[in-house]
Amino acid sequence: MDFNDTSEEAAFRAEARAFLEAHVAPLEPGQRASFETEDPQTVEAAQHWQALKKDNGWACLTWPVEYGGRGARPIESVIWNQEEARFRVPPNIFGIGIGMLGPTLMAHGTPEQRERYLQKMARGDEIWCQLFSEPGAGSDLAGLQTSAVRDGGDWRINGQKIWTSGAHFCRWGMIVTRTDPTAEKHDGLTYFIVDMKAPGVEIRPIRQINGGANFNQVFFSDVRVPDANRVDAVGNGWRVSMTTLLNERASVGGAGGGGLGVRDLIRLAGQLEIDGRPALEDSHVRQRIADFYVRLRGVQHTGNRTLTALSRGQTPGPEASISKLVTAPLAQQLASFAIELQSLAGGEMAASGFQDGYLGSPGMRIAAGTDEILRNILAERVLGLPREPRMDKGIPFKDIPTGTA
Ligand SMILES: Cc1cc2nc3c(=O)[nH]c(=O)nc-3n(C[C@H](O)[C@H](O)[C@H](O)COP(=O)(O)OP(=O)(O)OC[C@H]3O[C@@H](n4cnc5c(N)ncnc54)[C@H](O)[C@@H]3O)c2cc1C
Repeated sequence: MDFNDTSEEAAFRAEARAFLEAHVAPLEPGQRASFETEDPQTVEAAQHWQALKKDNGWACLTWPVEYGGRGARPIESVIWNQEEARFRVPPNIFGIGIGMLGPTLMAHGTPEQRERYLQKMARGDEIWCQLFSEPGAGSDLAGLQTSAVRDGGDWRINGQKIWTSGAHFCRWGMIVTRTDPTAEKHDGLTYFIVDMKAPGVEIRPIRQINGGANFNQVFFSDVRVPDANRVDAVGNGWRVSMTTLLNERASVGGAGGGGLGVRDLIRLAGQLEIDGRPALEDSHVRQRIADFYVRLRGVQHTGNRTLTALSRGQTPGPEASISKLVTAPLAQQLASFAIELQSLAGGEMAASGFQDGYLGSPGMRIAAGTDEILRNILAERVLGLPREPRMDKGIPFKDIPTGTA
């Protein structure tokens, strides 16, 4: 492992920092990086920041220049993210498009589709959402039922998607549909670009426990999609979806989490008093903090292996999957302990940001693969343990029992 920037990386970091310092304010200690809501003003501010980055060569760093990127190395993208996280910038509402759907279009789209959509996606002029999950198909994505049926030169889409992040402000969506229910589960799927403003698309926000409404139910009633918006061949939707999901895991696995961490917990424990003494002097409190610190350092060092591989131009190994499986529960436990401390110290709950972290953390254990699904992946693909038994192999999708009449 090598923790130091090479001279080239150090120069890149200095250039990135200079751009950020020229345009945005740094975060104060304990301040959170993101704005809390995705209201129209926040969306506008995010689009403005994205356009400024794009126009100055700081957007979509690893994308090829022809599609609006910079053709940078993955390690340079990591360095940019590290630097940007130190500044008060609007939330990144483009991650699904730029991190997952753009690369999918590059791999599977037609030249016309790449030409039409990628530059506008890169600049944040058009925001994209991912229409994969359904009420009966999340972890088991291939069980999805939303149908697309040919209708002349178009397709007609009917069905329901759920948990669609950002659908309410998105211009376009990537949707996986079932086009052949007589084929086996993974074979009868087709992937499309869908216009979120088309007649028949109905978006209903879902109110979350933290008061936000960042994701939605999306209903499709006879929504017409031209065949020119089909991505890859009819029946190839599973393969295209895998490209999207592999890019999702890569971006989520490498994310720093964005929430408050051990340093913030230490600061809080230094401010609160238990029985007239700073909480930080209490041995139980110190032990808990030390435990969080050790686990976090462990996962950071594992993450450093990914960074070292990227810096050397190699492909990272399975450690990226471990990262989310460790950091998501850790973030939840850390926030929970901070709230416990505040209540032990009595008085009003300090507006510390840990409450938000606590309410948002269960979602992080579900999005981009639940804890259990990640454990299955690690068990099967890393440890080589026997695969889960499958009851749906060799059966046409329409004949798989669903438990509903
Ligand atoms: C913050 C957030 C944002 C999201 N954004 C989007 C989005 O933009 N677009 C989109 O399409 N989806 C999105 N999702 C949905 C997400 O992909 C699904 O919630 C996730 O795949 C889990 O599916 P599910 O909710 O249907 O749960 P289920 O798959 O029904 O799982 C329920 C429980 O069963 C467990 N389980 C399921 N299968 C197995 C198994 N084989 N072995 C062991 N345990 C199992 C799970 O771990 C879980 O505990 C988002 C979710 C969250 C939390």
